[in-house]
Amino acid sequence: MDRLGSLPPPGKLEGTFLWDGIINGPVRSRRLGVSLGLNLTPLHSKLCTFDCPYCECGFDTPKAPHSRWPSPDLVADALRKTLEQMSEPPNWVTFAGNGEPTMHPRFSVVVQRVVEVRDRIAPGVKVVVMSNGLSAGRPAVRESLNRVDERLMKLDPGPVHLVNGVAYDRSRLVEDLRGLVDVTVQALVVEGPGYSGASEQAVEEWLAALARLQPKAVQVYSIARPPADARVKPVARARLEAIAARARRVVTGKVEVF
Ligand code: SF4
Repeated sequence: MDRLGSLPPPGKLEGTFLWDGIINGPVRSRRLGVSLGLNLTPLHSKLCTFDCPYCECGFDTPKAPHSRWPSPDLVADALRKTLEQMSEPPNWVTFAGNGEPTMHPRFSVVVQRVVEVRDRIAPGVKVVVMSNGLSAGRPAVRESLNRVDERLMKLDPGPVHLVNGVAYDRSRLVEDLRGLVDVTVQALVVEGPGYSGASEQAVEEWLAALARLQPKAVQVYSIARPPADARVKPVARARLEAIAARARRVVTGKVEVF
């Protein structure tokens, strides 16, 4: 995912970066406040079902040799220890990390264990999953996504094979997202070689998808960190505001620019 917001971790200010453990932060996010990140991806790997050229984790990699998906026990234990050590709990525990969290082969069990730890140690903290939504149509994934407090799902304007690096059916994705409770859409608007997420055609198609989905909220933003492909450029704030204004005409949920 595009992870947690505006503050890169120490020592990672230049270039794309990978988190190097299960727990990251707490960090202060543009969109979430204080958040503790959960990275489920095997160490030294970036694994996603998308391969967005704007991704701040870099392009997808093969799974690093000898690295493994962390077990549900390992994730729950790391979270428990971190929460117990914090003088003040974070606002959020966020599934984000070096790729797509729903790719974890035991994602449902991980979610169950994380929610249990949260309930026991820090019941006021909300659990959120940031996902590209590509597996939201699978019943087990859908059920797990609906179990957490918030679902931040990606829906970017622009040709999907260029903006997200893989060809998929956006109409199918929207139908799968409609199976989730109270989706918040994260829309990252960028320009790259041969495309613009801010073009009239891209915005029109995106608005049609939004109108069909009727998300609870929409977060419009552009890149704030170095992308995987240096040719990808951010879109000016004024243009983001104009796109958000049009989104407000087709959805009843809150639309914000970050
Ligand atoms: S969905 Fe895109 S931005 Fe998010 S982790 Fe995957 S490749 Fe990166």
